Amino acid sequence: MRKKIIAGNWKMNKTPAQAIELIKELKPLVADARVDVVFAVPAIDIIPAVKETAGSGIDIGAQNMFYMESGAYTGEVSPEMLTDAGVKYVIIGHSERREYFAETDETVNKKVIKAFEHNLIPIVCCGETLEQREQKIAVDWIRKQVKIAFFNVEKEDAKRAVIAYEPIWAIGTGKTATTAQAQEICSKIRECIAEIYDAQTASSIRIQYGGSVNAGNAAELFAQPDIDGGLVGGASLKADFAKIVNYNK
Ligand code: 13P
Repeated sequence: MRKKIIAGNWKMNKTPAQAIELIKELKPLVADARVDVVFAVPAIDIIPAVKETAGSGIDIGAQNMFYMESGAYTGEVSPEMLTDAGVKYVIIGHSERREYFAETDETVNKKVIKAFEHNLIPIVCCGETLEQREQKIAVDWIRKQVKIAFFNVEKEDAKRAVIAYEPIWAIGTGKTATTAQAQEICSKIRECIAEIYDAQTASSIRIQYGGSVNAGNAAELFAQPDIDGGLVGGASLKADFAKIVNYNK
């Protein structure tokens, strides 16, 4: 059975001091979680967040990284820096990075490969725009994103990966995909992984839903057979996140 994984994507929120404050508040509330809990914090918050979550069962994630080892890449953070700092997960290819920072399926693929080389678990994001959904090309679009993201990724690595299905029209809009819509795409993603690898890899990989997840809709979403948890934006910045994490208690 796949263990559910619920990750908060803090995006560009919380200074180091505010990060510690929020972790202190959430730590006791998620202490007995029955799911894997991840806080994907801004780069500058990683070191204090790793320290503050030590021994709590909460894992720290990064929101991005570069695919080169080191060198003259002003402003970038390397995979080795993340591993050394105690990071376990790294979000790759979030739609905001694709939209504002020119990330492509090809850079996503390079980053996914690099993440595994450094023993980081990528949370690989995919998702369609409203226009693509209306044109009924969402599934084709997402299949393309997934196929390129996993190009040349070894099967044993793919099994440990996390994929986040985040319909762009549901991010930060308060508009959640219906459970049926979310389940449908997550099952198509699993089918795509089975085509690339095999049924066993497809049943090992964890697929999250993201897009206006909150304490009110989490239980129904996460009860779907192909939804293995969530990637949560806005609602991960407050104590309410604990209700999402504890949706099954
Ligand atoms: P919201 O939960 O704020 O819609 O954000 C979703 C998201 O982008 C998580 O990565």
